[in-house]
Amino acid sequence: MEKNISLGGGYGLSGQMMLRPLMISDLIKHASSQFATTEIVSRRVEGDIHRYTYAECEFRARKVSQVLARLGLQLSDRIGTLAWNGYRHLELYYGISGSGLICHTINPRLFEDQIVFIINHAQDQVIFFDLSFLALVEKLQAVCPSVQYWVCMVDEDLIPISKIPNLLSYETLLSKESGDITWPVFDENLAAALCYTSGTTGNPKGALFSHRSTRLHAYVSALPDSFDMSASDTIMPVVPMFHVNAWGIPYSSPMVGAKLVLPGPQLDAPSLFELIQSEEVTMSLGVPTVWSNLLLHMSENDQSFTHFKKAVVGGSACPPKMMDSLNHLGVRVIHAWGMTELSPLGTFATLTGADLKKPISEQNRILQKQGRALFGIEMKIVNEDGLELVQDGVTFGNLMVKGSCVINNYFRVEESPLIDGWFPTGDVATIDAAGNMQITDRTKDVIKSGGEWISSIDIENIASAHPDLLAVACIAIAHPKWQERPLLVAVKKPNYIRSEQLLKEEIWQLFQGKMAKWCVPDEIIFIEEMPLTATGKIFKLKLRDLLKDFQF
Ligand code: ADP
Repeated sequence: MEKNISLGGGYGLSGQMMLRPLMISDLIKHASSQFATTEIVSRRVEGDIHRYTYAECEFRARKVSQVLARLGLQLSDRIGTLAWNGYRHLELYYGISGSGLICHTINPRLFEDQIVFIINHAQDQVIFFDLSFLALVEKLQAVCPSVQYWVCMVDEDLIPISKIPNLLSYETLLSKESGDITWPVFDENLAAALCYTSGTTGNPKGALFSHRSTRLHAYVSALPDSFDMSASDTIMPVVPMFHVNAWGIPYSSPMVGAKLVLPGPQLDAPSLFELIQSEEVTMSLGVPTVWSNLLLHMSENDQSFTHFKKAVVGGSACPPKMMDSLNHLGVRVIHAWGMTELSPLGTFATLTGADLKKPISEQNRILQKQGRALFGIEMKIVNEDGLELVQDGVTFGNLMVKGSCVINNYFRVEESPLIDGWFPTGDVATIDAAGNMQITDRTKDVIKSGGEWISSIDIENIASAHPDLLAVACIAIAHPKWQERPLLVAVKKPNYIRSEQLLKEEIWQLFQGKMAKWCVPDEIIFIEEMPLTATGKIFKLKLRDLLKDFQF
């Protein structure tokens, strides 16, 4: 029967398709029915490798749903997780969200007082945790009064004696359930998952994703010019499931039916390489530090990949040298930009048919940018007064975005972050006529020298080409005449034995002809280890603090 829809004064004809809300549980249901025997392989905190199938994962996720009901939880209650990438964490993703509760993934690498803030702010009712976090949980339980149950995700006999009240075993809880439920269907706009930004300045802020936004994000993230995911892929997210839902891989992989490899707590390069090889991983995702460690390990041991084809690099800019090194190993680099508030994907660097006719050097230049907005994202750059700037690939300004997977409000924060309906990303960028966006800096990392802006990322991209460097970061140092000047901080490769002065000269040489003289760093200093944030990115705030008394 035809139906009319009331539309502000008029009436329109309703479409006659089934009305099925976009539920997160559909993703695992689909995998369970269409890819029932496709494997999920996990390296566990118990130290062994666990393998099972999508069908078994969905069955146990249904048991999780029953456990949550038995514990008396109500619609939209927040359920925290402190867990590595593993099959039990995946079961929680679906068991929690699929029941209409909110899966709140907590980053265990944050400072303890930030974790306490986050749990108390979210009012988590239950926390599921991996055994590795027992000592942390022992401290948290005294200062997180909203948490009624602490569930350790191992068999009961592996849980040591502890003073944690209401400590339960995940496996024991699941063993009492039948798994015999059908996933409930409810409003797709209901909140499904909660993730706090690391909050390098101020308190962490929560991004609350809905079933609808998560589903839309999963569709668009899997497209050929996005992650390019398929049922024939074996995908290993190194990016943690506690960091913006591992860039959505736990949702998109079941949707396309890819085999999943979850590396658990062992994120060192030899362990990752071994897993890539033994499980015939075709695609993996991580921040640049993951890739630089892996590349160093492989070159030191003269290793190569057998099945590995696609490396997704995001979270920080992918240095051109890293792209080259991966390409030489036969790996295609997919450079992506995004942020927690965007669910998190915003852009991908890919080539159009017209780009493929351009010289290779030009193609590489395009691929090194952060790329074109994925469907559902609109972008613009504006000046300090909010006026839109020209998209010529040269003019840079504050990057603003909008879209159906972009944040509207932070969780339990009154004031909206939006400006005229646009979300200010805090990044400074250029956009060229073809729509390719390039991040020049985070607003707070830009170096303001004599009224001009210097891009720290440009400097890092050039310096990181030196083969004897493991990591580089460029920061602003206060200067009496120029306001700020760039300082390059670098970490040498462990086997470097020549003089530091020689190395400095060689690095300075790299800038010749690539950058205006006044943009070149005034000084280069070497440190033993680069400080990293809780999400594995270079911790510039800490560097600036360490070097606050530095003088040129
Ligand atoms: P936070 O670091 O606040 O926890 P995210 O992990 O969401 O949050 O980080 C988002 C920020 O990371 C972006 O605003 C941007 O500055 C940076 N970023 C992400 N991807 C890239 C990239 N490919 N190139 C440069 N910067 C990136």
